[in-house]
Amino acid sequence: MRYLGLLAASFSLLFSLPAMAWNATGHRLIAAIAYDRLTPKARARVDALIRQHPDYEKIFLRDVSSTDPTVRARAAFIAAAVWPDQIKGDPRFYDETRSNASPTQLLPGFPDMARHTTWHYYDTPITPDGAEAEIQKPPHALSELNRIIPIIGTKADIPPTSASNPTYLLPWLEHIEGDVHQPLHCVSRFLKSMPKGDQGGNLVYIGTRNLHSLWDGAAGRDDSEAYAAKYIADATAANPPTRHNEKKPEKWIEEGYKIAISDVYTFGLETGTRDHPVALPSGYEANAAKVAQQRIAIAGYRLAAVLNEKLK
Ligand SMILES: [Zn+2]
Repeated sequence: MRYLGLLAASFSLLFSLPAMAWNATGHRLIAAIAYDRLTPKARARVDALIRQHPDYEKIFLRDVSSTDPTVRARAAFIAAAVWPDQIKGDPRFYDETRSNASPTQLLPGFPDMARHTTWHYYDTPITPDGAEAEIQKPPHALSELNRIIPIIGTKADIPPTSASNPTYLLPWLEHIEGDVHQPLHCVSRFLKSMPKGDQGGNLVYIGTRNLHSLWDGAAGRDDSEAYAAKYIADATAANPPTRHNEKKPEKWIEEGYKIAISDVYTFGLETGTRDHPVALPSGYEANAAKVAQQRIAIAGYRLAAVLNEKLK
């Protein structure tokens, strides 16, 4: 989800929920694909990290009825991937990007209580008509991935209150790595008619929803085990893992940028307002679902590759 500023945020409360990045389904699928590809050693280490998270019982295991430790560990890892979106609506946390932000009380086990809403995306500018672009300042998805990946496997004894605490950072790594495999988390399109950019498609109306939301939901909206099993079987069969072990966040985002141009902004230079929403070309949603299936599989493989390398 991207924050659109107060005005747009209050509109979105009136008319629709704001876009949430890959929705929970997308993040859960990516985490499941990754978890099932971890080496026994990396799996043991992520399990140990997740168990120390302050929200382990309260949130990660909230919907888990099984008492089998293996089932619980996998479920907690998968649930942790959604946590950075959940805290956007959690009153324990505050939105540090608001001009009137005041920090909420620091709770045990957390380095800070900020929602870090800007960590979810990196706005590579797309400027098809030569409009001037704004460059996003860090912290953003790229700066945070490049900060987190080198320290996720540290064996040093780091206090929970440190911003470099791997237990705190693991759900973030799972989540942001997933987000940047959604092409609209890698770009913002600037047009002369939209000089502030479209906020990753959040401002492009395509009927009752926006372009960002269409892509967030392109892997479906179903968190059942049965749906995940079928989706993962299909996605991994259609996109075999062999070629997908790129570990550089810059490359992940560059791919997202290219896909945004080839598969997302295929409707010309319309901005898509509420009164005049963009009419998408026929077959658009079917293609989005296909692209999403590929990105979900690749994101899962790459998350596993990073964790296997860093948590040896
Ligand atoms: Zn996100």
